[in-house]
Amino acid sequence: MKIINLLKQDTLSLSFEVFPPKTETSFESVKAATGEIASLHPAFMSVTYGAGGGTSRYTLDIAKDIKEKYNVPSLAHLTCVSSTRETVHEKIAAIREAGIENVMALRGDIPAGREGEDRSRWDYRYAIDLVRELRECGADFCIGGACYPEIHPESADQREDIRRLREKVEAGCDFLTTQMFFDNNLLYNFLYKIREAGITVPVIPGIMPITNANQIERAIKLSGSFMPQRFKSLVDKFGHDPAAMKQAGIAYATDQIIDLYANNITNVHVYSMNKPEVAEKIMANLSDILGK
Ligand code: FAD
Repeated sequence: MKIINLLKQDTLSLSFEVFPPKTETSFESVKAATGEIASLHPAFMSVTYGAGGGTSRYTLDIAKDIKEKYNVPSLAHLTCVSSTRETVHEKIAAIREAGIENVMALRGDIPAGREGEDRSRWDYRYAIDLVRELRECGADFCIGGACYPEIHPESADQREDIRRLREKVEAGCDFLTTQMFFDNNLLYNFLYKIREAGITVPVIPGIMPITNANQIERAIKLSGSFMPQRFKSLVDKFGHDPAAMKQAGIAYATDQIIDLYANNITNVHVYSMNKPEVAEKIMANLSDILGK
């Protein structure tokens, strides 16, 4: 099932993100956690590619498992910047062969130590290069792209970031998923600006439930997200108490989702980080709204 066809309903639906294992030994436990999340019947599940500490080796195995074993549509992430054209073509062929219809086309972060290189020699410089190849490869993929309500950290300003985003969408993205954010007003403002700029594809907001104090620093470092005072107070109050922090973080994410839906956003992607209990609690908190 193509994700673009799942985004047309007018009731709330949630999707979840998982990341592949770091090592072969944790493959089975990640597969089990993924299975538990899939058993909640989300709209779809995405599997990252080499992000969140996971390796890229197992992305496809997990995406295939989600689709075939649990009958949940899956979205396989693929990055390009640190790969050769040959490797990317092999990966695209493997995705196709596995029957995965949805691909999240990403640039990936510039590998440490390569920031100063002459990028004109690289096979891939931006996600748009991958979007074009996916469009031209002959498979009828549903293609997602990443977007950044608080601008991508490498962008000079938001106008330039949105201009580049529009080019990426025009190259063939069917939908966009946002970087995490903790203040919904940032998303509403971003949506207004991209619509004004002529970007009309569906945008799925990404919500990260922060469930422990250590996760916060890492999340902010990765995303550069703004921490509203309301969230800071919550961390100050509960950060030292793991169980309370988890409960408060899930409640905060739930609140964000309710506000998004109240503002007519019907699809929300939850960065569930291989934690079935987090996905389950969020769905339970929203059970009447979700009608489940
Ligand atoms: P791009 O769209 O290429 O943008 C990167 C930067 O380049 C932006 O500043 C943009 O404005 C600029 N730019 C774009 N095109 C041009 C151009 N033609 N000329 C000049 N500047 C340009 N990382 C992983 O490693 N694995 C994952 O699975 C993963 N999943 C993600 C999922 C989501 C929803 C998000 C938001 C991010 C994810 N990331 C993942 C992180 C992502 O790889 C990084 O944020 C990366 O730095 C940028 O990727 P991109 O696809 O947004 O790049």
